[in-house]
Amino acid sequence: MTIHANTALIGADWCRNVRLALEDGRIRRIETGVSAAPDDVCVGVLLPALANLHSHSFQRAMAGMTETRGAGRDSFWTWRNLMYRFLGQLTPDHVEAIAALVFMEMQEAGYAAVGEFHYVHHRRDGTPYAAPAELSARIFAAADQTGIGLTHLPVLYTYGGVRQEALRGGQLRFANESDAYLRLVEDCRALARAAFKDTRVGIAPHSLRATTPTDMAAVLRATPDGPVHIHIAEQRAEVKAVEKALGARPVAWLLDNVDVTDRWCLIHATHMTDAETRALAQSGAVAGLCPITEANLGDGIFNGATYLEAGGAFGVGSDSNVRISLGEELRLLEYSQRLRDRARNVLVRDGASVGTTLYTGAAKGGAQALDRQAGQIGEGMLADLVAIDRTHPALCALQDHQLLDGLVFAAPDGLVSDTWSAGRHMVRAGRHVARDAILSRYKTAIADLVNLL
Ligand code: ZN
Repeated sequence: MTIHANTALIGADWCRNVRLALEDGRIRRIETGVSAAPDDVCVGVLLPALANLHSHSFQRAMAGMTETRGAGRDSFWTWRNLMYRFLGQLTPDHVEAIAALVFMEMQEAGYAAVGEFHYVHHRRDGTPYAAPAELSARIFAAADQTGIGLTHLPVLYTYGGVRQEALRGGQLRFANESDAYLRLVEDCRALARAAFKDTRVGIAPHSLRATTPTDMAAVLRATPDGPVHIHIAEQRAEVKAVEKALGARPVAWLLDNVDVTDRWCLIHATHMTDAETRALAQSGAVAGLCPITEANLGDGIFNGATYLEAGGAFGVGSDSNVRISLGEELRLLEYSQRLRDRARNVLVRDGASVGTTLYTGAAKGGAQALDRQAGQIGEGMLADLVAIDRTHPALCALQDHQLLDGLVFAAPDGLVSDTWSAGRHMVRAGRHVARDAILSRYKTAIADLVNLL
């Protein structure tokens, strides 16, 4: 397939009249200053598509169900109670249908790939399925239907708290000891071998709450390569509990006790001192930020100015999937900093564009976190690409170097015309090619699920 773009962001440069030849999921050749050939797919603005580095797809089906205030002060922990009740009813068919809808919505929003942080493994009563990786297989099936690039992150979840409390209720579906977990990872690798070539499997100790230093070390020893994701410091109560049990704050503890390198992605590095922030930036790990969910759950504000000043790698994820909007994710990342600091254009150096810095930074960091050779347009890179309609009133007055500011701060959702995931052309004229079938399966599944709640 060959794409012709009026404008394309190639590396850090805006180029005109660009042709990209795709082959075997990758960008084989780039020409600039050339006109379109008859069979080219012609687009307006071509950008590297982001990887959505953190998703729990099933939570999409709860969106809008947790916005009524309960008695007293509502919090992350009351949200989690409903989440547990909800997943008490989920069947494998529900998991697959919801994931397919979510992945489709991500591609229509301009994401080419997803890191699915997958922690529901067992039956509703907590016993394993006949095939222990049954629910992971459903995530792979959803990725196959949508064509999205999948980095599957099966989760190690053993305890109900940092003092090795037993799992209860809804948590029983997550439970694995480290040996059973490593077998599950092997099963997932087998699933990946039968999937698209760009599919990856990583590991994900859920959090310092849900595993122990010994178990985490065992799992890391057995898995020397590939992505490692962890929820690190989302909630203040969590920071306090970890500090009390392990003698250090979560980010500090992890950096001091584990070899945190560029294969790591720390999700919700929300609560960090300045020293932790600089140390994380220097580790080469990716900070996995989920601004919409972190706002929705009242988590707190990322120490962003210090982190970016220290050259830290970052990417974004839609996490709870309460809303899937790439522009809003990046906008909220910057706006939360402005509101806290009572300042403008916080996350950039003097003279730099916020939209460009955040978009290109998140493209690189997301690709790193999901182990995809992507994140910018270049020969040999995976063809994770998105095309934008610049004739929309929100963009039509802007020069090339202002386009990403327009996209992040001014544009509505829905300006994505095309998305390619490793060369698979899944969104055309703004619609996923399998939209009708995926939507209809989702509606059947959700009607069934809501009846059970
Ligand atoms: Zn999460």
